[in-house]
Amino acid sequence: MALPDGIQYRAFDGEERLATRGEAVYGEPVADGWRAWDAHRSKVGAMYELGMEPGLESGSEVLYLGAANGTTVSHVADVSGPTYAVEFAARPLRDLLSVAETRTNLLPLLKDARRPETYAHVVESGLDLLVQDVATRGQARVARANRRFLADDGRLCLSIKARSEDATCDPEAVFADALDELRETYTVLDSRRLDPFHADHLAVVAEPR
Ligand code: SAM
Repeated sequence: MALPDGIQYRAFDGEERLATRGEAVYGEPVADGWRAWDAHRSKVGAMYELGMEPGLESGSEVLYLGAANGTTVSHVADVSGPTYAVEFAARPLRDLLSVAETRTNLLPLLKDARRPETYAHVVESGLDLLVQDVATRGQARVARANRRFLADDGRLCLSIKARSEDATCDPEAVFADALDELRETYTVLDSRRLDPFHADHLAVVAEPR
């Protein structure tokens, strides 16, 4: 798989690691302006390590749901164009605002991803990429509700945490149900477990139907 412009494997202390260009955010090593992208701390990073194609291109217009304190969305914004970062918890959003200080294309929004109508007046439609990592119940429903922001040829890059849906159920059964629900709105192009980087998570790349 060819990596998009802006993402490379670079040497850090003699070890080849996935990296983007930008200011450090979470204590990751930096060399020659490139910062290591820790796949153990980022589902999108893990997707690259596993050879998936999350759909991020240089200059992509992105909506990121579940931005937390900016670990992954900072790497995304190092590559992308305008990137709306939705997070509903005030505390991580404060950290995210600092991350956005050096990334003028990163636009943090204190919003609930289950209620896209509350940010539809700010977020453009026709976006290239919807990244979602909310890790709360109803993950497929959230992805479907936010399809409205994607261009018809856009991509969904979704991480589903099994335990957030049902901690007692077999993860495979949870993933099968989520994929069934997603298929109402999306065509699934690829789906893989994120082991060994993230246990009991399924990554999905899909396009609008
Ligand atoms: N994507 C982040 C990263 O890799 O840096 C980690 C995200 S963490 C697993 C999930 C985040 O989603 C939490 O910060 C949580 O507050 C947020 N979240 C959960 N449900 C949400 C919702 N309905 N709307 C917005 N944010 C939500």
